Amino acid sequence: MTDIIRLTAAQTAEKIASGELTAVEVTEAHLARIEAVDEKVHAFLHVDREGALAQARAVDAKRAAGEPLGPLAGVPLAMKDIFTTEGVPTTVGSKILEGWLPPYDSTVTKRLKAADVVILGKTNMDEFAMGSSTENSAYGPTGNPWDLTRIPGGSGGGSAAALASYQAPLALGTDTGGSIRQPAAVTGTVGVKPTYGGVSRYGMVAFSSSLDQGGPCARTVLDAALLHEAIGGHDPMDSTSIDAPVPPVVEAARSGDVRGMRIGVVKELGGEGYQPGVVQRFEESVAVLRELGAEVVEISCPSFVYALAAYYLIAPSECSSNLARFDAMRYGMRVGDDGTRSAEDVTALTREAGFGAEVKRRIILGTYALSSGYYDAYYGSAQKVRTLITRDFEKAFESVDVLVSPTTPTTAFPLGERVDDPLAMYLVDLCTIPVNLAGNAAMSLPCGLAPEDGLPVGLQIIAPALKDDRLYRVGAAVEAAFVKKWGHPLLEEAPQL
Ligand code: GLN
Repeated sequence: MTDIIRLTAAQTAEKIASGELTAVEVTEAHLARIEAVDEKVHAFLHVDREGALAQARAVDAKRAAGEPLGPLAGVPLAMKDIFTTEGVPTTVGSKILEGWLPPYDSTVTKRLKAADVVILGKTNMDEFAMGSSTENSAYGPTGNPWDLTRIPGGSGGGSAAALASYQAPLALGTDTGGSIRQPAAVTGTVGVKPTYGGVSRYGMVAFSSSLDQGGPCARTVLDAALLHEAIGGHDPMDSTSIDAPVPPVVEAARSGDVRGMRIGVVKELGGEGYQPGVVQRFEESVAVLRELGAEVVEISCPSFVYALAAYYLIAPSECSSNLARFDAMRYGMRVGDDGTRSAEDVTALTREAGFGAEVKRRIILGTYALSSGYYDAYYGSAQKVRTLITRDFEKAFESVDVLVSPTTPTTAFPLGERVDDPLAMYLVDLCTIPVNLAGNAAMSLPCGLAPEDGLPVGLQIIAPALKDDRLYRVGAAVEAAFVKKWGHPLLEEAPQL
């Protein structure tokens, strides 16, 4: 059993295709693992045992009938609880959607089902994806498998923790300001934010629509690429979906070569305020890139220093509008509907009871920033900063193929450390936010453990829009170099649960 859960997604699919393993065996091994460890980790909000086994049986039947199997057929996946799943609870980590059974599948869910991926269940997350530690979930926090007293990152901490504790070889996340990359960094896993519009948002509960992007999470670069290809591509149901083929990410992940590439180190994303062990591992990664044959130069992106401020105006503004739909009439919770109250009062009572503190804080901030008289000063200025950041990227990519930085300024911090200090929590996404504002693509992958605390550090690779394949090309090369150097993937170092 232990061996099955430690396989990569690519290996698992191969063994199922060759008949060495059945999809049911693989699914049962992961369900047993969930049973054994998830009480401690709390990666899942809902485990769909019956649904997963039914999907697995269907894969085995297909194979028995001699039908062709896709590259991820029978591979289990943990899905962030932000993607709708027909008939399976979808809470977005909020009380307001407790008990809601979506009547439809998100496009990503549909594509995964069509690819014969086995969906094990839905993972924990900060409420409405607002947060950096998964502590804003209405259903309690998730622990980091490296140290259960520490945060697994956020908002997609459940998905990252499921990977790092071998409860699933694949997971799905969404990244509005870093929620795929930051959890990947602090759990020693791989996470990719595709180019905006590269993966459909249809059926992905909206937080900040101009920033939200679904993407793949895995333990290896190749596995992330296989998942990226399965979920990516044009969707007529999403008006911001890109009408172009998915970049050749799997091919890039298989080739992994940086010879002759020009790589820029972002001057503004590093240095003072960064944990020494994070800086040390990042600098080692840069040295590895040089050894592998890349030319590394320093690049300045002067507007990045305003990214965090702009993000915390734009994201709350869009959320204040998006979350207006939770009005007690359409979905989920309804409080105070006893026949004596007006619809308006019921809406207010429901929102008061159903939303947590951080969600309310953002709705209030956003409503204020968008109000007449303040709109230009706040939202308007933030949009201008967004343009400046996009220009910084454009200029940088005139001279380099990709940019690199640490993914996060620190390793995983203790649960509870920042819950009462929203500003300290917001700083966690310093390095990831510029990419969401500009809409291009980025990956985080493990680059070692910080010597002072023995916890994983993430390397961020940033590519121009639509050049997602470059992330995988560089990521696979770095990953191979590190595995060679350490003798095994980084996760082998994680304590056994
Ligand atoms: N931590 C950031 C926030 O709280 C980003 C969240 C995300 O990417 N969903 O908004």
